[in-house]
Amino acid sequence: MYRYETHLHTAEASGCAQATGAEMAEKYKAAGYTGIIVTDHFFNGNSSVPRNLPWKERVELFCKGYEHAKAKGDEIGLDVFFGFEYGDGGSDFLVYGLDKQWLLDNDNILEMELTRFLEYARSCGGIIFQAHPFRDCDYIRSTTHAPHFVDGVEVVNMSHTRPEFNERAKLYAQWYDLPVTSGSDSHNTTTRWFAGGVLSEKKFTSALDYARAVVNGEITIIE
Ligand SMILES: [Zn+2]
Ligand SMILES: [Zn+2]
Repeated sequence: MYRYETHLHTAEASGCAQATGAEMAEKYKAAGYTGIIVTDHFFNGNSSVPRNLPWKERVELFCKGYEHAKAKGDEIGLDVFFGFEYGDGGSDFLVYGLDKQWLLDNDNILEMELTRFLEYARSCGGIIFQAHPFRDCDYIRSTTHAPHFVDGVEVVNMSHTRPEFNERAKLYAQWYDLPVTSGSDSHNTTTRWFAGGVLSEKKFTSALDYARAVVNGEITIIE
């Protein structure tokens, strides 16, 4: 089975992360992973990218964590794919299958209402999973659930210290008959490092390949 991380952050783009893309790549390689998907917080989440720059520069900075992880991955033999975590207040959505060029071409996505964004991103070929839908923490004031606008649910988020967050997410996915996945939500290589993700019999060639496997029920979640 091939092992993949589906949800992780880098210090280049996420305000809450402490390890660089290259450090994350090394850590996952050493832990036996075949590949990782870098999913930094987008500008509407805990982003470390300055807001007052032109869109193109913001996107360039946003992609640095992924690019550094990818360069290191190419060197050490770890597949590194691109994704992003779109925020909406206390809700987060993991977007796969859309790349840097798509972000550069769509400088209006922050102006969209959540469901409009989800609808639009999916119409462009993106596959979207709601991240940790029942996490309950200080920084979350309210959570929006959009079961009819996503392709699946992250039912296991390895960063959770309370099991009921994941248990509720599983019930939610069952209730709406949505595909399920798992991710670590790692933010560094030590204190906030969680060895989660998914197992697959098939090797993925892209983030989209991974997301399709989730939709088709072809992955095994790590928990
Ligand atoms: Zn974070
Ligand atoms: Zn995250």
